[in-house]
Amino acid sequence: MNPVIGVLALQGAFIEHEKMLRKIGAEVFEIRQPADFRQPKDGLVIPGGESTTQLKLLRELGLLEPIREEIRRGLPVFGTCAGLILLAKRVEGEDSRRIATMDMEVCRNAYGRQLGSFTTVAAVEDVGSDIPMTFIRAPYINKVEGTECKTLATVDGHVVAARQGVQLATAFHPELESDTRVHRYFLKMIAESSLPSAEKKER
Ligand code: GLN
Repeated sequence: MNPVIGVLALQGAFIEHEKMLRKIGAEVFEIRQPADFRQPKDGLVIPGGESTTQLKLLRELGLLEPIREEIRRGLPVFGTCAGLILLAKRVEGEDSRRIATMDMEVCRNAYGRQLGSFTTVAAVEDVGSDIPMTFIRAPYINKVEGTECKTLATVDGHVVAARQGVQLATAFHPELESDTRVHRYFLKMIAESSLPSAEKKER
């Protein structure tokens, strides 16, 4: 049965995630308001873009609390770049409340605002070696905290991917590459998670 993935489509690079997910066999729908979010789903993707804008829209639309609650109840989630920032419990130098379900502190625009975009390849634990990584005004993870949040990848000594249970976050943008391994890994996390599939929930 194909997994059904809701992609947060308020702002940023959501179309690229949709294309990638369809390419590897997932069904996809866009989330723009609470009624969309209530649809049965096996996972949620939070795209890159501008985390401040996304946070403002999440609050205004009344999506922030429902998303946080469902993740706490076990909904698998994959956040890239701005998505990673929204999932982090702490953001250096800022205190506004985000989704905040992953035990990590992140630094926004960590590579500088102007020269912040670059591409590299690095290994991602459990996913593979030579994973192409495009960083666009990217954050990195300063600190992975607690015992549940695990580092999956580092670039130049900075953590750029982490996993906590069924939550996955990358500072880079795998949806902009042709390499599908990171998205396949997310679908594998979903297949291994204990939530009933969207299909079953509908019946
Ligand atoms: N710099 C953006 C932010 O702080 C993230 C950039 C991205 O998602 N490509 O929200």
